[in-house]
This record gives sequence, C-alpha cells and structure tokens, in this order.
Amino acid sequence: MPIIPYAKQTILADDIAAVTEVLRSDWLTQGPAIERFEMAVANYCGVAHAVATCNATAALHLACRALDLTANDILWTSPNTFVASANCALYCGAKVDFVDIDPATFNLCADALEKKLQRAKKEGKLPRIVIPVHFAGQSCDMEKIAYLAKQYGFFVIEDASHSIGGYYQNKPIGNGQYADVTIFSFHPVKIITTGEGGMLVTKHANIATQARLLRSHGITRDSGMMVSETEGPWYYQQIDQGYNYRMTDIQAALGVRQLQQLNEFIKRRQYLAKRYAEKLTDLPLQLPVQHHDCYSAWHLYVIQLQLENIKQSRREVVESLHQAGIKVNVHYIPVHTQPYYQQLGFRVGDYPVAENYYQRAISLPMYYGLTDVEQDTVIATLRDILQ
Ligand SMILES: *Cc1c(COP(=O)(O)O)cnc(C)c1O
Repeated sequence: MPIIPYAKQTILADDIAAVTEVLRSDWLTQGPAIERFEMAVANYCGVAHAVATCNATAALHLACRALDLTANDILWTSPNTFVASANCALYCGAKVDFVDIDPATFNLCADALEKKLQRAKKEGKLPRIVIPVHFAGQSCDMEKIAYLAKQYGFFVIEDASHSIGGYYQNKPIGNGQYADVTIFSFHPVKIITTGEGGMLVTKHANIATQARLLRSHGITRDSGMMVSETEGPWYYQQIDQGYNYRMTDIQAALGVRQLQQLNEFIKRRQYLAKRYAEKLTDLPLQLPVQHHDCYSAWHLYVIQLQLENIKQSRREVVESLHQAGIKVNVHYIPVHTQPYYQQLGFRVGDYPVAENYYQRAISLPMYYGLTDVEQDTVIATLRDILQ
C-alpha cells in the first residue's frame, strides 16, 4: 500500500550537487555558504539582516535574548503552536502566557490580544514580547498587532516557521514592517529545508549583531566589540553568555538551492489548497478561511470535522485514514494543556477556542511533491470514511 504522509521534503539532483560541493570544499561549518544563504533570504524578504541558526527553536531563543527578555519579564504567544514558541521564554527565565485564537484563521486573535493588554495594563503585567505565529502559513493580523505594540510598548517576534514564501498586504513575510524579528524554520516538514535549520531576520542592526554574538558562545573576534585591547591574531573575547547555535555550510548550501525553488513550491501548495477547497465542500467539514490581506505559504491544510454531523470521533477518522495509508497529523495540541505547562499552573479550559479547534482538527497531506492522483486518493478516502 502506498503511503501518503502529511508533509514531505523535495530534494532534487541540484540540491545534492550543492551539498556535495561543500563536502569537497575547505569549509564544513559556518563559512561562505552561510553568508550566501543569509543574503539570499534577506533579499527574498526585503529586509536588512539575516542570521542563520541550527534550528528555529534556537533562533527564537536568540531573538528573546537579543530583545533582553529576562526573569522579570512576560512573553505572550498563541496556544495553537509548537511548544518551541513558548519554551523560548522559559529558556530566559521569563514567564509565559497565552492569547486565545481566532476561530476562523486559528491565528492569535488580535481582538483577544487587545482585551488582555487592557487588563494587563491595569494589573501592571504587560508583556515585554508577543510572538504571533503565522499558523499553517497564513499571516496573523500584523497591522493591528503592530499598532498594539506601539500603544502598549512590547516587541513583536513573528514565528513564521510555517510561512516563508507567504505574503501579507502584498509584501513578503519577514520584511519587518510590522515585526521586530521574524523566525523561519527549515525542518524537513516545513516549506523549504536544510535538514535542521532556522533563520532570524530583522531590520534592526543591533538585534542582528547581538544574535550573531550569542549564536557563537558570546565570543567576538571584532576588536571594536572587545572590552580591552586585542592580544594578537589568535585572540577572541567572550563578552556575553552565548550558545553554539550555528548552522553548517552543508546545510546552508542546501538552503540556497531550496530557496531558488521556493516560489514554485508555494505555487503548487496554493494549487493543492484550491483543489481541496473545491472537492471537499459538500462534506461535513469546516475548511480553512483565508483573509484577503494574506497569501498563505500553505504549510498545512487543516480541516475541522463537524463532529455534530459525523458518527465517528476525530480519533476514529484519523485511524481510518492511517489504515488506508494516509498519514494525516494534528496541529496543535494547545501548548497550555501539555503536562509541563499544567505544572506551571495553566488549566484545561483556559483557552477554549484553541481547545475546541484542537478537538476537531486534522492536517491533510500538503507538500510540493503530492500528485493530483494522490490528492484524489486522499479526498476519496476521506469521503468514504465520512459517509
Ligand atoms: C517547527 C516549528 C518550530 C521549531 O522549528 P525547529 O526548526 O524544528 O526548531 C517553532 N515554531 C513553529 C510554529 C513551528 O512549526
């Protein structure tokens, strides 16, 4: 039985050639390919600075550190995300809180954010950073979030792990108009891949400088950044507590190649999304809604079961699809319901929209290499199961 996964990378002969070329060169870790990849992503997004990292989780951590998130601070994000969007605050010793999602887009709800900010201001508990997550590839309402950021004085880190290649108000996500920092992930299930990998992009030179420093142990070889005179050509100074969050040149060379394919990848995802929408309309499902400001990268195609009109549970539908070789997945288990977060004091019921969404959601197969025939198999199988 052929297996159809929910996500899958596309690696072409030219990708392999690019990686092989690095393996034959003098540089394996951070070298010329990193600079090429960083420049290429910055150019694509129309933003000044890009810093490649070993994964997006590391990039989120670096962004929080570069924005001086400390133990006295609070960071807010969406409950409908991968745990990394919240964990980055805990790495800095800061507190985490969540803002419930919009039931139409499944993104952090800007109106709920505004209400929570009004309350937090009265209590003196405003966040230092808010991380909107562009769920499934569609941008959040960044214009409103940026307006609130000005009004209430917080920084914005966009978690765009799902959405490189997506657009908001006709500009590429990552351009920096409405966010201080944008994070991309290049994990194999995402839009483009470097195996593991991430990128931080920003319009602020000081954030990029700080992120580069912390990416490599907090060590500098730039005499201009040292606290005293250099002792010679071997000399470096550790001036902050950093990490080893570097990407390799092997990965970056793959990234440069993948980026050249990005627009093709997105076009195909757009086509597949349109085809799902056309062919699933008569089933007892809620299909994803697109805001007119957004051109989604379509990392995920999430359907919601109308459980009232179906005789099966979500689990039964997923298991039937798996038995038919269609390895659908579910995104996301609301972060605040994870045992670790329950231990921090969060409770089931805290974010009802995200919880209700989670009970019904299924991510259907969505990737560049998914053929029309395979997609028809997914649709026909789902139809059989639901009827
Ligand atoms: C994948 C993902 C991450 C983490 O990315 P890694 O590159 O695996 O560290 C963070 N946030 C979101 C929303 C993601 O989907």
